[in-house]
Parts: sequence; C-alpha cells; structure tokens
Amino acid sequence: MIDIKLDDPISSIKGVGLKTQQAINKLGVFTCQDLLFYLPRKYDDFSNITDINKIIPGNVTLKAKITNLTTRRSRSGLSITEGIAVDQTGSVRLIWFNQIYRQASINPNETYYISGSYKLTKTKFSIINPSIETIKEVTISNARIVPIYRESKNVSSGQLRKIIIDIIPLVKNLKETLPQSIIDGMGLLKINQAVQNIHYPKSFVDIEKAQERFQFEELFPILLANELSKEALASQNSLKVAFNLDLARQFVEKLPFTLTNDQRRVIWQIYIDMQKNKPMNRLVEGDVGSGKTVVAVMSAVMAQSSGFKVAFMAPTELLAQQHAKTIYNLLKPLGLEKSLILLTGSQKSKVKNNAIKLANKINNSFVVGTHSLLTSGVDWHNLALIIIDEQHRFGVDQRMILQRKAGHLPHFLSITATPIPRSLALTIFNDLNLSRLETMPKNRKEIISQFVYPSNFNIFLNDLKAELNKGRQIYIVCPYIHQKNKMDKQAAEYVYQYYSSQLFKEYQVGLLHGQLTADLQQKIMSKFVSNKIQILVATTIIEVGVDVANASVMVINGPERFGLAQLHQLRGRVGRGEYSSYCYLIVNDSRNILPRLRQFILINDGFKLSELDLRTRGPGEIYGKLQHGKNISFQLTLDNQQLINKTLQGVKLFFNNKENMLKYPELDQRVKEAQRITNLN
Ligand code: ADP
Ligand code: MG
Repeated sequence: MIDIKLDDPISSIKGVGLKTQQAINKLGVFTCQDLLFYLPRKYDDFSNITDINKIIPGNVTLKAKITNLTTRRSRSGLSITEGIAVDQTGSVRLIWFNQIYRQASINPNETYYISGSYKLTKTKFSIINPSIETIKEVTISNARIVPIYRESKNVSSGQLRKIIIDIIPLVKNLKETLPQSIIDGMGLLKINQAVQNIHYPKSFVDIEKAQERFQFEELFPILLANELSKEALASQNSLKVAFNLDLARQFVEKLPFTLTNDQRRVIWQIYIDMQKNKPMNRLVEGDVGSGKTVVAVMSAVMAQSSGFKVAFMAPTELLAQQHAKTIYNLLKPLGLEKSLILLTGSQKSKVKNNAIKLANKINNSFVVGTHSLLTSGVDWHNLALIIIDEQHRFGVDQRMILQRKAGHLPHFLSITATPIPRSLALTIFNDLNLSRLETMPKNRKEIISQFVYPSNFNIFLNDLKAELNKGRQIYIVCPYIHQKNKMDKQAAEYVYQYYSSQLFKEYQVGLLHGQLTADLQQKIMSKFVSNKIQILVATTIIEVGVDVANASVMVINGPERFGLAQLHQLRGRVGRGEYSSYCYLIVNDSRNILPRLRQFILINDGFKLSELDLRTRGPGEIYGKLQHGKNISFQLTLDNQQLINKTLQGVKLFFNNKENMLKYPELDQRVKEAQRITNLN
C-alpha cells in the first residue's frame, strides 16, 4: 500500500499537509521512523463489544445502527446532536456536542462501531461524544485498545492515530539494534514487533512486552557501559597512599571545629580506598554547608604526605580562586601552605609559567585550578589524587589524557552538593562509590524561604532594608543578563539598574555575570567579600561554592526557570554564617505558583529535593538525554527492580557470549554516549 521509506519526511504520508506536518514537527517528530518511535502515553480499552442491554457506566464499544438523529441549539449556543444506537438487544442515547457534521454523515442503514464513555448526564444515561467507525478489520479509534498520544496544538491524538496506522507496515524495515543472542536469551520482542505492538496492541500483554523491550533498550547500554568502565578501571594501577596517623591527628587538632561523624566516616572511606593500588572512584555528596571541603583537603594532605601531587579542579576560575584561599587556611597550620599552587587560564603567561615551574619543582604540590590545569604543562607523573568539585562529568577522553600523562590512573574524588537520587545512583552510576554527608555541622540556621509577588513587594523591600541595616549583605539572582524587551524585569542588567539607581541608592550595588572578564569578576567578587558591595546582582554564576558568611538574603528572579537542585544551590549561598537567613522567590502571580516551587519552599533538604526533581522531571531531564535520538517517551523506570535485574542478566549474557561490540555499531554508540554522560572519573 505504501512506497515510502523510514527516512522520508512525514509530509510524504498521504493526508499530511503542511499544517499537520508543522504541528507534528513540534513534537520532535520529522521522519516516518520518528513517528514510529512516537510512543503512546496511555491506552483506552475499547476492545470489548457489548450488547446494549448489558452496558454499565464507563468506556463501552457497541456494534449498532444509529437512528433518530436530531440537532438543536442549546441556550448557550452549543449545538447538540442526538441519536439512538440500536442493536438486537436494546437501544441507548448518543449525544455529540458541537459536531454538527454527524447529522449528515451518519447513514441509518449502516452498522457502526460506537465507542465512548457511557454515563449519567443530568437525569439520563447516554454515551457522550462517541467516536464511530464502519465495521472493518483494522479500526482506528473503535473496537480495540486505543492508544492515546501526546498532542500538540494543531494535531490531536486521534489524527496521530490515523497517520501512524498508515505507516505501521514500515516496521518490517526497522533495523534491529540489540544482539540476537540477547533478544533470544532474555525473551524480548524484536524491535519491529515491539513497535507494532505499542501502536496496535491486541492485548495488554502485548503492550507490556513492548514496553519491556523499550525499557530494556534504554537501560541496557547504560549498564553495559558501567560494566565496561568497571573492568577498565580494575585493570589500571594507581599510586598507593599510605595512611599517616600523626598527620590525620594533627590536621584534626588544628581545625577550629570538630568534625561531624559523617565527615569522619567519609574521610576514613577515602583513606581505605587510596591505600589500594586500584584507582578510587568515589563521589562525596553533601548539602551546601555540610563541610565537603575539609573532607577533600584531608584526603589531599594524605596523598601529599606520601610524596604525591594532588590536583583540585573547580568548575570556574572564580571558584578556583576561592577554594585556593580556603585550602591555604587549612594547609597553613600543618606548614604545607607553600605546596599550594593556583593555576588559572586568565593568569598572565609569566605568572602562569612560574606557577607551572613551581608545581613541577615541588614533588607533592597541591595544584588548584579549572579543568584546563590537566593540560597546562605540569608534569603529572606522580599525581595520586584528583579532586573534582561540582562537576559530574569527567569523560573517558579526559581520563585517557591523564592516563597518558601520568602513566597511571589517579584516585578520583568528586564532591558535589547536587546529589544523585539513590535510585539513579544504583543503576546509572552503579560503578561509583558513594559517600553521603547527611548531617550538617551543628549550629546551622535553617533558611526561611518565601514567595514575593506584586502585592507583598513592599514588605519584601522593608525586609531587605532591615537586613542591610543590620549590616548584612544580599544576593539577587537573575536568570539571564540582557533585557529581552522594555517590559522584561528579570534581566540582570535591568535589576541592577533598578536596585542601584532607585531602590537602594544609599548602598553599593554590584553586577556580576559570565560576560565580564575573569579579572573583573574577581574584583567584583572580592568587593562583595570585603563588604564594599552590599547588594550583588548576579546570574547563576554564583550558583556553587561562593562563600560569604555575612550574606543573609538570597533573592531569586524567575525561579520557575530553574530546577529544584539549582534553586537549592542558590539558596545555599546564604545561611553560611551565624545569622538567620532568607531566600525570596519572586513570582508574578500568587495564584499560579508551580507546585515544585511550593515544595521548594517547604523542603530544606537537598537529598529530598533531588528525589523530587527525579520524580517530576525524570532522569533524562536531570542527566542529559540518555535517549538516542529516537523519541522514546518512556522514561527509565528506575524503581522497577525486576527490569534492572533482567537487564543486568542481559549484560552478563553479553559478556558470557564474548560478544564483540563492533558488530553492533548502534549499541556501541549508545554505550559511548552513556559513558560520556555518566562517567564521573
Ligand atoms: P560545602 O559542603 O558546601 O562545600 P564547606 O566545606 O564550604 O561546605 O563548609 C562550609 C563551612 O562550614 C565552612 O566555613 C567550614 O569551615 C565549616 N565547617 C566544615 N565542617 C564543619 C564542622 N564539622 N563543624 C563546624 N563547621 C564546619
Ligand atoms: Mg563547597
């Protein structure tokens, strides 16, 4: 019936005109193949045909004639078309609203499938807005399990259904992506059968089997990638870091506070890892202010005391500079401060060359910088430990570079305030060792979060003034830099103008964003640190790490543009000192606040928020699109332990069969993609 190909644009399908094409493109669907992978969101069961005398309220399908059609207008101007469906057993009323064409298009001598919801309206039972189709083998919206698709403005689920049914025969041309041994061994559907079933299931078992295949397909490359990474890691050597009890004691004694039990436990885990000659691969998660830096530095000094180098990589230069200061203070009591070297891209070449020389001269130097420090010309042959701050992604490629430079793989320690939800950690990141700092150091003040809308804006301003009067400082975060139009009040430049020249003339207001030179950013930041600036208007450049204990207020413009994890990061910029602190979310309308923002106000725990982010936005949203270009609308069901176990079995089978990845280019590509996304080391 059709001579179109999978790669053809959807406009080559009969009946898809320009308007429909554009509407479908909006769904991310361009080719026929895309459309086949546009999976239903749910199903309505209209598969059982009922005798009219047996119908009960709910979804029903009848096989009946339609008589006594009449159309009238209601007082409100609605057109109401009514008819009677009749089969051998009885009759029932049908009603359509605003579907005048029914009146002329229904043939009273024809038998139809009639599907819809049978229910009570006012005083009578009727079937409301039923869809009808003449009796034939392949029906679209009647007498079957009917798939419901996500719609866009100009294309309905019903239209999509019609168009997709037309191209279902193309499934026979779909290329299989999984090895046959896995399909057979795990009892999975072939890809063409799965696609066929998902759009035209004969039973709910069909749907389940198809979904299983799609979910397996999503998870398999990820778990395979983990297994390959684990193998690769286990075959590498790293430098053994000896445990030096005296040093650990000294470090702890010189701290101005006592470590929390969590900090002790995690440091100990790291020491155990680093004593082995296999590379550590550990992620330390802890909410803002949970004291991750001390953990990192205490790990570093152990490596230094064994005579090895340490590299500390921050996501931005600003943070690298800040960290260098903190680290300096922690090293000084041990007399190790001279080993600390800051290396950043914006340093003048002379300064930089000196830093590199020094880093090479000192055998056990502690080098702080951004990612570029790995390629900076420092001799890394005795690099024992890499600490990665707030950067989940450290790819295979970077690892290879290091491996070449160092001749071995260093121990990896990632630290982050954006925790990976547990369920994700167990699957996607299961080659990683996790440490959590769950308890906060004592005396942390809870941050009070609230909404600001036009009607309480003045109260909000007074609150800010009160804080400024007490000598505190304020962050104001904006989602972007430049104003989009004259009405736009969220842009950093606008907010800066408004606050500095109108609202808070008597205070110093600063503007910080990524388009300023690194030098200027640093100057503005140090002015804020030394309280020469009281109000800092900034983009999310201040999201992580920035540490000013005197700041007690965080104001966030356009909060709906940020994820929960990010908002929580921003909130964590305050409440770092001894002062009560506040976080204000500026919203336009008090009645229309997103549910997740309401949750944010109520929940102060980053681990809980990350689970919530996972549930509301899905793993794909959080950790990049794990999908492979095709529009698979199922998200990984990470709480599906059965599926995870089955997929793990599949991975084992793959290894047992000594399958060669090169035979499966598409799988290979997806494994690489998964590694790119999930590799922290
Ligand atoms: P984060 O986990 O957000 O990186 P930091 O390491 O910056 O947190 O620590 C936040 C602040 O808490 C720092 O000023 C640090 O010196 C302090 N701190 C760390 N551990 C403790 C502790 N056990 N008791 C009291 N204060 C601590
Ligand atoms: Mg930190």
